[in-house]
Amino acid sequence: MKFGGTSVAGTEGMRRVARIVAAAREESPVVVTSAMAGVTDTLAGLLESALHGGAIEDGVAGLRERHLEVARALAPSDENLPRRLEELFRELRVLLRGMRLLGTTTARSADAALGFGELLAQELLVAALSGEGIRGRVVDAREVIVTDDHFGAARPDVAATRARCAERVRPLVEDGVVPVLGGYLGGTPEGVPTTLGRGGSDLSAAILGLALAARRVEIWTDVDGLLSGDPRVVPGARVIPEISFREASELAFFGARVLHPASIDPAIQGGLPVLVRNSLAPEKPGTTILQEAPGPRAAAVALRRDLALVRLRAPGWRRRRGFLERLSQRIAGHGVELVHAWPGPLGIELLVPGGRPAETLDAILAGDGERRAEEDLVLVSLVGEALASRPGLWGEALALAAERDVLRVVQGEGAISLGAVVRADRADDLARAWHGRFVDEEGEDER
Ligand code: ADP
Ligand code: ASP
Ligand code: MG
Repeated sequence: MKFGGTSVAGTEGMRRVARIVAAAREESPVVVTSAMAGVTDTLAGLLESALHGGAIEDGVAGLRERHLEVARALAPSDENLPRRLEELFRELRVLLRGMRLLGTTTARSADAALGFGELLAQELLVAALSGEGIRGRVVDAREVIVTDDHFGAARPDVAATRARCAERVRPLVEDGVVPVLGGYLGGTPEGVPTTLGRGGSDLSAAILGLALAARRVEIWTDVDGLLSGDPRVVPGARVIPEISFREASELAFFGARVLHPASIDPAIQGGLPVLVRNSLAPEKPGTTILQEAPGPRAAAVALRRDLALVRLRAPGWRRRRGFLERLSQRIAGHGVELVHAWPGPLGIELLVPGGRPAETLDAILAGDGERRAEEDLVLVSLVGEALASRPGLWGEALALAAERDVLRVVQGEGAISLGAVVRADRADDLARAWHGRFVDEEGEDER
């Protein structure tokens, strides 16, 4: 059971989560918690400030007060809890002061600091569980989720994690204890702390589910499930009761923030269902992500914002041996994610996250012809098994996109998704138009 930042934000949230866990106690849950909402962002801001010699004390004091207040409310007579929190804040200060002194940070030391939100939240959640009569115990995820040393976006090693789970997690479960692990955190085989990338707590839960051969993985968040569109953009978005792994994976990749894009992979490997549920409304069934979708339909729209289209002019590149390998190595080497690529005879166009300094793009191109980048683009996607079985939908979808000046078209694997790259000011409108035409109307037909 993984609880996101909004779910555990504050005393009431922690208590609500504890009640949800208590209701599932017969099923031997293992709990993963995110940092309280906003804490990881605050930590990232403090790192930035430390690097530039700015102030850190007030920021740390604010975090300290926020966590101690929840601790006092949850466990007024527990003297150890505030002590443990203070210890964590001492460590955090030492780390941040070190960075400020040196005026530099490494990806490695940044990871050590960014994970503090989860280290703090796990302590509070155990206290909240205790309030519900549940014996919980903090288990250090840095010693359980074994990862590579790709700091900032470390990848878990399932076999090694499985062995650690057998040692440190399963015995607790067998003792009737509820293990509580901070999400987002991992550690190299040598024990150096890593993080799994922003939003990575979902991945923590999926990896643990696979490593422990759980019956299912539950992602508890602040909306009623996986919705047919981002509720802030598509007012008519509704809960998708059941969805296939591959539809959900495409949705996550194409921007449905509720799931981390890598979070379903382990579930797919192990075939275990993933549920998305609302901690504010636990009586609702949420979404179940399964092997098979319940019949072909257009499931949802998603938006991936802040992208850039980079044109690399390199005539004859197809005849240059190893060109693509070198290009993709340079892309990965600069930590740039490749969202999509269009190869052509005269060059290649790349769709990448925006906000990259021009130097990064130049370094990626490494002298291969001119670079031209178009920024502030959005990839709007329509996802659903129906797209593969009813290609007639593409024509209609593209016609609606063309009315909004579509710049490029993207088709997902297995043709179950269709995406349009449009300028930022046209994106929401296209998402609503597609949702209205394909998701709403198809839904009407089903009913
Ligand atoms: P958590 O803190 O629980 O991990 P996130 O903020 O990462 O929560 O993800 C939940 C949010 O994702 C929702 O509040 C919603 O605004 C947003 N969201 C975007 N697209 C979707 C979608 N298709 N279904 C559900 N939520 C979505
Ligand atoms: N707290 C981390 C973040 O904000 C991880 C997560 O919430 O999944 O990115
Ligand atoms: Mg999240």
